[in-house]
Amino acid sequence: MVLPATRARGLVAATKAAQRRRRVDSGGGSPSPEPASRRAAVYVHWPYCEKRCSYCNFNKYIPRGVEEAAVRNCLVTEVHTLLRLSGVRRVESVFFGGGTPSLASPHTVAAVLEAVAQSAHLPADSEVTLEANPTSAPASRLAEFGAAGVNRLSIGLQSLDDTELQLLGRTHSSSDALRTLAEARRLFPGRVSVDLMLGLPAQQVGPWLRQLQELLHHCDDHLSLYQLSLERGTALFAQVQQGALPAPDPELAAEMYQEGRAMLQEAGFRQYEVSNFARNGALSTHNWTYWQCGQYLGIGPGAHGRFMLQGAEGRTREARIQTLEPDNWMKEVMLFGHGTRKRVPLGKLELLEEALTMGLRTDVGLTHQHWQQFEPPLTLWDIFGTNREVKELLEQDLLLLDHRGLRCSWKGLAVLDSLLLTLLPQLQKTWHQRTPSLVPGG
Ligand code: SF4
Repeated sequence: MVLPATRARGLVAATKAAQRRRRVDSGGGSPSPEPASRRAAVYVHWPYCEKRCSYCNFNKYIPRGVEEAAVRNCLVTEVHTLLRLSGVRRVESVFFGGGTPSLASPHTVAAVLEAVAQSAHLPADSEVTLEANPTSAPASRLAEFGAAGVNRLSIGLQSLDDTELQLLGRTHSSSDALRTLAEARRLFPGRVSVDLMLGLPAQQVGPWLRQLQELLHHCDDHLSLYQLSLERGTALFAQVQQGALPAPDPELAAEMYQEGRAMLQEAGFRQYEVSNFARNGALSTHNWTYWQCGQYLGIGPGAHGRFMLQGAEGRTREARIQTLEPDNWMKEVMLFGHGTRKRVPLGKLELLEEALTMGLRTDVGLTHQHWQQFEPPLTLWDIFGTNREVKELLEQDLLLLDHRGLRCSWKGLAVLDSLLLTLLPQLQKTWHQRTPSLVPGG
């Protein structure tokens, strides 16, 4: 591939910077871990796509052209600003999501990573993931992303059936997906994840399981299964509303999920989260931060973050949402150094609700030790130990509460949402009963 001269020069400079960062980090050894308030994951949102998928309601835009240098400068500026505001000193993972971040140039990815490494410590072995669409990620480009500092890929494969891919409005075919997957595995061995969707209109259990079986012959050590969510405002929603397509059948989707997770377990995958499966220890550390309710910074249009402002120790963190629309976001970044549109301080109870909801998504669940990190005046035993409805869930082998903590059983993980209908109100009730003076106004 021939790169235009300026882009090539920029890429070479950024790649050298990424390599320099690796050498410095490797030579210096790992510093001692920072306290939780000084550590964070960083999510970077690339908001552009080639084409609108029929089911998609993410914050994405299909532009005629992208002024990439301007977007890159704003991403870099926002990285510096939010890292400074948060006082985060160590970034443990970076995730480029979208949109379609594999449409961004490797130079942009390298520049963002360099900005992170300038404002905080980014250890050499930090997980740096990029979401890649099969058609925008030929092998040469994947290799350039690797040189820029990416060390893990998440491929939006979605289906191995061309008719389904067309229905979803994807730009790739199943053979494109398998070719990209093979190239990605060659370049990033043991560090490639694929997404597979289930519960599509007219999709049947047997053929879907055969897709999963085929994928097992090709995939690496990480796989995510997502149920299609029919969202108002999407083309697929309209087609179902108009009767052009049958509505997805939730019973069939539940069967696919159950059979699929059993097949993956049989193949040696650990279901470490409701939708995520890994073998050989290839868990996503970035997503693990979300499920552990760790701090994360959201960079880019519409990105979400959760962190404590520097100097606000002792208080809880805030939820931040960046301005959705890219041009407005850029104007704000150029004016203020960041494009935060909304800041919502999170109360102690809200943080505990998040810790419960997110923690129970994993097979580890909430350990007593982890729960205590949020410094609640109540233990897990206080909240759930004597409640009759929780006891029924324990007796039905959906939940476990023991010396380790609270977690879902294999059976319970599949019906977590229904368990939370009991657990969340129980947390809220106990909180209000036991801590009225600590939480004026709730
Ligand atoms: S590529 Fe992803 S973000 Fe872009 S339209 Fe498709 S589903 Fe949405």
